Amino acid sequence: MSKGRVYVLGGGVAGLAAATALVEGGQEVTLIEAAPHAGGRCRSFFDKQLQSNIDNGNHLVLSGNTHAMRYLARIDALDTVEVLPACFSYKNIATGEAWSIDLGTRRYPWHLLWSKYRIPGTRLIDYWRSRHILSAKGSDTITDLLSASGVFYEKFWVSFAVSVLNTSPDEASAALLMPVVRETFGKGGAACRPVLAKQGLGFSFVDPAIEYLKGCGVDLQLGKRCRSIDVVDNQIISLDIDGEKISLEDGDIVISALPPSNANDLLPMLTVPNEYRSIVNGHFKIGPSTYKTPITGLLGGFPEWLFIRGDIASVTISAADASADEASDKLAHSIWQGIAPILGLNSDQLPPHRIIKEKRATIAQTPRMVSLRPKSATNISNLLLAGDWTDTGLPATIEGAIQSGHEGARLALNR
Ligand SMILES: Cc1cc2nc3c(=O)[nH]c(=O)nc-3n(C[C@H](O)[C@H](O)[C@H](O)COP(=O)(O)OP(=O)(O)OC[C@H]3O[C@@H](n4cnc5c(N)ncnc54)[C@H](O)[C@@H]3O)c2cc1C
Repeated sequence: MSKGRVYVLGGGVAGLAAATALVEGGQEVTLIEAAPHAGGRCRSFFDKQLQSNIDNGNHLVLSGNTHAMRYLARIDALDTVEVLPACFSYKNIATGEAWSIDLGTRRYPWHLLWSKYRIPGTRLIDYWRSRHILSAKGSDTITDLLSASGVFYEKFWVSFAVSVLNTSPDEASAALLMPVVRETFGKGGAACRPVLAKQGLGFSFVDPAIEYLKGCGVDLQLGKRCRSIDVVDNQIISLDIDGEKISLEDGDIVISALPPSNANDLLPMLTVPNEYRSIVNGHFKIGPSTYKTPITGLLGGFPEWLFIRGDIASVTISAADASADEASDKLAHSIWQGIAPILGLNSDQLPPHRIIKEKRATIAQTPRMVSLRPKSATNISNLLLAGDWTDTGLPATIEGAIQSGHEGARLALNR
């Protein structure tokens, strides 16, 4: 444990994971978050138009995400999530074809040897050929390793790779997908179960963490922005928090859990990834619907995943830079045309809706951007980095963000 205080900058899930792990380790912590609420890119809010709590975007976490599950256990939030069976439903919007793939619960999905359990139109050899992903090198894109055509590619790899990496497969880093394949499919169906926040992201990943930190007497500074960081001789000597100077004592440590551009503004000596990709979400107040499947993968159109929670149907489009440039009204209409038939609702009657465009949802996870991700430890003696964009070996996801926070906390506690 550091004998001083640890200042965590940024209250997204990376900062919250760092702060809660530090407190668990007995460390004195100050958490500084610019927004009036924590959560960053993973948050819920009450939408007046929909008269409902919605998330900025649907977030899919899997049961094999060990850091996320450890974090939820620490903040006593496991009962706020629902762990569904590892059975994924898909629909093709253009053709109406529907299928599902059940990974079961066993380590090895032997049942896939029988064609009736496989994705329709796929052959055993297609699954075997996918092993090339496991030998990916740093410069490989997904389409360098998998032939960018064929039923298995179209029906599985495109949506899987785009959802995980938020980058189109022809430019996405295959090496970054490899650990996800190992940690989920590689461990069998039990590690592939979708973990859904019952009420919303904030109620599972954010509010319980804030309660935990408050309960432990952490100095929580929400709505306070770090304006500058004073570095002398490779050591941070002070922080400017909205005009108030905090001088660091010997033994104090700063964990920056800021997005890359904000970290770089405050610490220009850092090299950070500087290209991003958008995610667009559309939330529709559908009222009662007979369609109850909580998650459906969508193909044959641009919406990608359909989530149903109560009377809200939400759609996610990843790697969505083109969609993010479109007018929200036009987007809402096109998305609704795609999902209304699935929901058994009238595609001419657009219900109350909200389109949320996150232009910097994640860094572009291309081999070049991935090569720019820095490690947690830096040349500045009392600075550690966290955030989904740092070099965790994982994609920029909740799991990656939480792992980065845990790593920052581990290094701080060991000093
Ligand atoms: C729409 C959308 C959908 C997504 N879907 C998924 C998904 O399905 N599965 C998944 O695992 N991941 C998903 N992600 C990615 C996931 O949300 C992020 O990886 C994760 O939330 C990043 O957390 P973070 O703490 O690293 O960064 P952030 O959440 O960006 O947190 C950084 C915090 O720093 C604060 N800050 C910035 N500047 C300052 C300053 N100067 N002083 C103090 N505070 C400051 C910000 O306000 C912010 O709260 C999605 C992201 C989006 C946007």
